[in-house]
Amino acid sequence: MCYYLTVMKVKLINYTPHPQETAAIAGKLCYAKGSLDDLQKIDEKEEANFIEKIIKLNHLSVVEHASFTFAIEGISRVTSHQLVRHRIASFSQQSQRYVKKKDFEYIIPPRIKKKKELKAIFEKVIKDINTVYTKLLDSGIPAEDARFLLPNACETKIITTMNARELLHFFKLRCAKTSQWEIRELANLMLKEVRKVAPVIFKDAKKRDKGKK
Ligand SMILES: Cc1cc2nc3c(=O)[nH]c(=O)nc-3n(C[C@H](O)[C@H](O)[C@H](O)COP(=O)(O)OP(=O)(O)OC[C@H]3O[C@@H](n4cnc5c(N)ncnc54)[C@H](O)[C@@H]3O)c2cc1C
Repeated sequence: MCYYLTVMKVKLINYTPHPQETAAIAGKLCYAKGSLDDLQKIDEKEEANFIEKIIKLNHLSVVEHASFTFAIEGISRVTSHQLVRHRIASFSQQSQRYVKKKDFEYIIPPRIKKKKELKAIFEKVIKDINTVYTKLLDSGIPAEDARFLLPNACETKIITTMNARELLHFFKLRCAKTSQWEIRELANLMLKEVRKVAPVIFKDAKKRDKGKK
């Protein structure tokens, strides 16, 4: 029996401590004469002003000093494939070679799920794939070969780390209405997480690109 998953989960599991302060100090260093000790004397207001100014100027190398690590589950391989196309990032994905996916969980697109007849056909195919996949494994075929049958709908888990500059670019592309629905949902959840810890950097994230600098 396979199960469909409706809940995508995104957790911000780690990030550069004081991401905004780090970026602001890096920016201040570029324009200030003072010593290193002076650079660190930066209050919240100055920090926000600096970041806003830097982002407006497209001086975005400064926000590269802040990185964010997300643990993600409940997405399909359709979406993880799109995610890993982003090259200025690090990824660790659950292996279909080492992890056997008998009774795998799968994602069913809402437009199919809400049509009873189409949902039934979709689920029948998933069930048949699982039956043959399981038979191959039980016959001694290694998971690395049996996985050739697994569909794009198969659920996956992945950890990714991106710096703030790449995230601004990622959000611009993947929160857009032109983006595919599942990666858009993922990007919006990731944005919600980083806004909790770096609200100024990501304030206008959906509108911004990485600039031309
Ligand atoms: C709506 C939409 C539809 C898409 N459709 C398709 C499709 O049909 N087929 C397909 O193959 N892909 C498709 N993609 C994926 C797309 O082509 C990119 O691979 C993906 O969005 C990663 O973005 P990126 O290359 O801009 O940025 P990243 O890989 O995240 O890199 C960030 C930035 O770094 C710079 N950079 C990175 N690597 C290089 C490099 N080697 N040379 C120069 N500059 C570099 C670029 O400025 C780049 O924008 C689609 C993406 C979207 C958003």
